[in-house]
Amino acid sequence: MPTEQRKDPALVAGPRPFLDVSREEAEAWLEAHGEPAMRARQVRRWIVAGRAESFDQMTNLPRALRAALSQEFLPLGSRIAHHAEAEDGTHKLVLRLHDGQTVECVLIQEDGRHTACISTQVGCGMGCVFCASGLYGVARNLTAGEILEQLVRLRNLLPARGRLTHIVVMGMGEPLANLDALLEALEVAGAKDGLGIGARHITISTVGLPAKIRRLAGLGKPYHLAVSLHAPNDAVRTRIVPTNDKTGLRAILEAADAYFEQTGRQVTFEYVLLHGINDRVGEARELAGLLRGRQAHVNLIPFNDVEGLPYRRPTDEALHDFTSALRHAGVSVKVRKRKGSAIDAACGQLRRRLQGPEGASPAPGQSARAKPELATKV
Ligand code: SAH
Repeated sequence: MPTEQRKDPALVAGPRPFLDVSREEAEAWLEAHGEPAMRARQVRRWIVAGRAESFDQMTNLPRALRAALSQEFLPLGSRIAHHAEAEDGTHKLVLRLHDGQTVECVLIQEDGRHTACISTQVGCGMGCVFCASGLYGVARNLTAGEILEQLVRLRNLLPARGRLTHIVVMGMGEPLANLDALLEALEVAGAKDGLGIGARHITISTVGLPAKIRRLAGLGKPYHLAVSLHAPNDAVRTRIVPTNDKTGLRAILEAADAYFEQTGRQVTFEYVLLHGINDRVGEARELAGLLRGRQAHVNLIPFNDVEGLPYRRPTDEALHDFTSALRHAGVSVKVRKRKGSAIDAACGQLRRRLQGPEGASPAPGQSARAKPELATKV
């Protein structure tokens, strides 16, 4: 039987992103170049903690090694295809990956917090009807390096010594559908010689995949879990979150309960308010009934307009009445503030505006330019 020919990674043509190289592989490469294995950590630390964007900046490495590294690897594998900054301090980056795919990530700055909102997939396979990210399905999972790189790129926007304080995994994609890569990236994010962002400051938002929620619960890490509920019953939920057809609310709530029991962390339920679909007081009361007896918090998100979709934001009155009905029933609730709306900060929107479906030119009527009021840096 022919044995599979495994390519020696060192022989693969073209420089590869260093953050996508495993520690073992990097160590083997270094040893083959007559360098101690510990240099692998050193290089990684330069990129993740030391903000190096070129090997030449790694001043405590021998010059010849820096040159050899540049032949073989890229310190960062993505290019910034678009950078927009809103007046409220929100930055949005569209990163072009080595295969030409693009992903979005956002830096939100508020009350002394510097929060990175990151993507886990190119596109999304969940198909929530109101969401821009899922309009064209999922192209692929991101690697752990590509997830980490979004954090590094966003942190590099902060002034010297500035650090990210929080991570929300609420960009493009379904995080629990790419859990291994996400966990690997978050490990580095949490490390002291990485980005130093502890699990308590990291929120993972999921459409609600019960088996994966239970797996996450079993890890013993106090990540903050947010579950996209969006409806108080299966009929409404299946209409707007198609995956609900297979899972159902009950299994999701039970998995969320298990998460709370195992981690001690209160689960947040996200609820996108869509005018005339799930924003009536009756639905608020039904939601309160569903959550009664649970340690839960509700985050209401008025729908962010997505070009071409028929959904609308709730009226101010509906938002007020929905919120009051929940409060009245004793549910802890917050309305999510809109940040960076001028730069299409909500997930999937800017990428879509920039490239249209599958990298095609923008559809007629869609502008490929950033809006004029933005400071745009490419
Ligand atoms: N796949 C994950 C992460 C999605 S993005 C999840 O389903 O939770 C984070 C949140 O933004 C989710 O609750 C998602 O449903 C919501 N969202 C998506 N599109 C939106 C839009 N146009 N307006 C408001 N919220 C939206």
